[in-house]
Amino acid sequence: MVNSHSEIVVNNRSYKWPDRPLVVICLDGSEPDYMALAMEQGFMPYLKKTLPQGTSTIANCVIPGFTNPNNMSIVTGTPPKVHGICGNYFYDKENDAEVMMNDPKFLCADTIFAEFAKAGAKIAVVTAKDKLRLMLGSGLQVEAGKIICISAEKADLATQQDNGIDRLLDFVGSPLPDVYSGELSEFVFAAGIKIVDKYRPDLTYLSTSDYVQHKFAPGTPAANQFYAMIDRYLAQLDAAGVTIALTADHGMNAKTDAQGNPDIIFLQTLLDNWFGENKTRVILPITDPYVVHHGALGSFATIYVEDAAILDDVLSRISTLEGVMVTLPREQGCQRFGLMESRMGDILVVSTKHKVLGTSPDRHNLSALKEPLRSHGGISEQRVPFMLNRSTTGLKEEGQLRNFDIFDAALNHVS
Ligand code: ZN
Ligand code: ZN
Repeated sequence: MVNSHSEIVVNNRSYKWPDRPLVVICLDGSEPDYMALAMEQGFMPYLKKTLPQGTSTIANCVIPGFTNPNNMSIVTGTPPKVHGICGNYFYDKENDAEVMMNDPKFLCADTIFAEFAKAGAKIAVVTAKDKLRLMLGSGLQVEAGKIICISAEKADLATQQDNGIDRLLDFVGSPLPDVYSGELSEFVFAAGIKIVDKYRPDLTYLSTSDYVQHKFAPGTPAANQFYAMIDRYLAQLDAAGVTIALTADHGMNAKTDAQGNPDIIFLQTLLDNWFGENKTRVILPITDPYVVHHGALGSFATIYVEDAAILDDVLSRISTLEGVMVTLPREQGCQRFGLMESRMGDILVVSTKHKVLGTSPDRHNLSALKEPLRSHGGISEQRVPFMLNRSTTGLKEEGQLRNFDIFDAALNHVS
């Protein structure tokens, strides 16, 4: 018999067993204004009614403000210096290879799900994109109806053996969504409520995609419709009697100049002009296989410098560029942002609110960008919502609170 009232310790943080089923939601790219304006304009009646008796504050996300580092922080309760996922890519100097970090082997910490599962908890993890599913499912032994781990993107391929559930499209009652669509996120919620109703997992994690936020600003009709959809599912989840805890992996800002064109600093081009080719290597940790909506342009970059003799010169030249907010050498940068030094370059660069960092023009295909560029990654996208449908006591102050405190808030601080 499992002692369901013991505390579970994960990465040196202790979590109480949930007093009712808990659903933690990571709304990808959800700049606080999206919900604030949607509520104000009447598109989120459930949330508007609920938050005054619940919890609503602002937390800071992890920098680089990208999807994988933040999702892994949320589900481990730790900064990237502990779990090791500092971006989608890092450069393996020894093998001279740019390595994609979407394999669980790069994860250095346990997930909260895996430790609760060991203690007998029922778990459900639902992601939009399949790239996150393996990482979030790290250490979880899938078990039909008990330990479920699925993605909307590959919902048609789900099996009892690999995902803990099969015939998922029938179960959810929706067709397979396009990976580049708002429906991908809707499927996450639709699957989430069905799973909560049927299996009552102790912990459920729903992680959406930021397709809509990359295209549409807060308060626009398309954004409001998307958040109205979310509000309907939040109301259903609430009616199912669960604790809802909601945060985001990062915010989102317009990254355009006065003419509406992407405002890009091409770091590799500049560095090659200043120091010659192959002296430096710019890595953009936003790069992933799904670049259509952001052209692999974000507000964070790391630079590997081959020749230590030019390091100071690189630092000072980059730091004086217009549109660069922060330039730091590895050690200081990793300290400030809580990153793992072995997974970062010699220099960390963060751009200002409306600028993005690129490598060279030929390496960014912007032809698929239909709307003015919106993206994330920097300090200007660090503020994210932090909400629960229940009141809480003893939470950290705004400014100290992190998105990866959400499980702590929902399990240890609800009143
Ligand atoms: Zn994201
Ligand atoms: Zn994004």
